[in-house]
Amino acid sequence: MSETPTVRPARANAITTWDFEADVVIAGYGVAGACAAIEAKRAGADVLVLERTGGWGGAASMSGGFIYLGGGTALQKALGFEDTPENMEKFMTAALGPGVDAAKIHDYCQGSVEHFDWLVAQGVPFKEAFWGEPGWEPAHDEGLMYSGGENSAPFKDIATPAPRGHLPQMENKRIGEKGGGYMLMKPLIDTAESLGVRAEFDIRIQRLIVDEDDRVVGVVAKRYGDIVHVRARRGVVLATGSFAYNQEMIEAYVPRLLNRPAASIEEHDGIGIRVAQALGAQVAHMDAAEVAFFVDPQMVARGIMVNARGQRYITEDTYCGRVGQATLNQQDNKAYLVMDEQALEAALATESSVTFFRQPPKWAAETVAELESDMGLPEGTLQTTVEVYNKHAEKGSDPLLDKKTEWVKPIGTPLAGWDLREHTGGFTLGGLKTDLDSRVLHVSGDPIAGLYAAGRCTSGVCTGGYASGTSLGDGSFYGRRAGKAAAAQQD
Ligand SMILES: Cc1cc2nc3c(=O)[nH]c(=O)nc-3n(C[C@H](O)[C@H](O)[C@H](O)COP(=O)(O)OP(=O)(O)OC[C@H]3O[C@@H](n4cnc5c(N)ncnc54)[C@H](O)[C@@H]3O)c2cc1C
Repeated sequence: MSETPTVRPARANAITTWDFEADVVIAGYGVAGACAAIEAKRAGADVLVLERTGGWGGAASMSGGFIYLGGGTALQKALGFEDTPENMEKFMTAALGPGVDAAKIHDYCQGSVEHFDWLVAQGVPFKEAFWGEPGWEPAHDEGLMYSGGENSAPFKDIATPAPRGHLPQMENKRIGEKGGGYMLMKPLIDTAESLGVRAEFDIRIQRLIVDEDDRVVGVVAKRYGDIVHVRARRGVVLATGSFAYNQEMIEAYVPRLLNRPAASIEEHDGIGIRVAQALGAQVAHMDAAEVAFFVDPQMVARGIMVNARGQRYITEDTYCGRVGQATLNQQDNKAYLVMDEQALEAALATESSVTFFRQPPKWAAETVAELESDMGLPEGTLQTTVEVYNKHAEKGSDPLLDKKTEWVKPIGTPLAGWDLREHTGGFTLGGLKTDLDSRVLHVSGDPIAGLYAAGRCTSGVCTGGYASGTSLGDGSFYGRRAGKAAAAQQD
């Protein structure tokens, strides 16, 4: 049976007992929920957070911790990088679409410097050190890195390159377990607690509650099998994360991501989106997805990526998430990495945060023709690709895809091929359409009274492309807005 009826709103006049009450009720204690809680509390509201799991943090606390910020943050300045909000806006508009919400991107870029200062003021630590190597994350605890292909084609010629991946400092990190994301969340939660934000755990929201004017006035939740009614005097903030783990929604909106959720948690089941849809909420860019590519960027930058036709399809020195998106969305998830022995040795001599991705090649050969045949590529395809690549690489250029000179070297022999088919996974970027105050918009275009949302249950700054840090970035930025706007409502 479909789950749809269970997400239909409940009527307030049918509820006899309220188990909890607050001015602002927030569903989800990840990054968007924590930021909403802090700002709502500071704006004078009594705040209650409802969290499905036994503790705070969500995907955010397991994450790498990249926060996409720029426009001249104190960290960018301290490390000698020039950036302006306008320059950042140019990059984000070009790289994160198609179909970006221009008003949101503008707003986000204009507010980015202040948002960085706010995070620092909440106690989030950033080390003044830059990591300039290709990578998913810095190898150590550096605080700044390129995280979206800003310094590679085509964006290097669209906006002045500036690194905007800001990372909370974390010693002895373990990717996917304990990283910069924890060091972002811990100070935020400490701040919320010190302000007097209340939190209830092991409580899972299931439906919204509306009054006779269809204003959202609470949520129905479940705790240990019991139904719980929670009243929100001023507003409800949805901050429950993406729909990466909702099989039905993935099938309907992002079928390429089927059975490959990554950089996400099982609690991301789309509930925030569905309860709001049941009230007539508008959604946007439901087909957009972040795509992680399980490979070491230090290797990719030094080799060539080819598709099932033996042809290059993306500049290899770009952000590996772009390589992942291009592979999954445009190459049917079929990709191979080709490197010669020298390039491999150079890659293996580097430091990397993901050395566990350094698997041995599937094929090794003395000639390109032999490798092409072993890989099962049509005769002449890889040979032509390498011939064209080498012809220009002799002069240090790559007129086909504009890979930067520092990474362009003729491919010699012996050489090897890595089978990177089915090497991607990711999370969804589409969700509720919200305005700049994080109000959830109805399909008619008006805000739904009493309902706010932020984080990955909303459509944020990314509508197609992605840069590392934009999820924690827009989640924290618009989480704050949601908290402020909800607190500002009259009881
Ligand atoms: C390994 C990894 C690395 C990543 N690296 C980065 C990175 O470097 N930079 C970046 O920007 N993003 C990164 N991400 C993605 C990022 O963490 C998420 O996209 C981001 O946390 C989304 O914010 P959110 O507040 O919407 O969701 P979350 O932070 O996940 O918070 C949502 C919360 O809602 C709770 N919840 C869900 N359903 C209910 C319910 N029914 N009732 C009550 N509570 C509920 C969840 O349990 C969770 O605690 C990474 C993710 C992972 C897992």
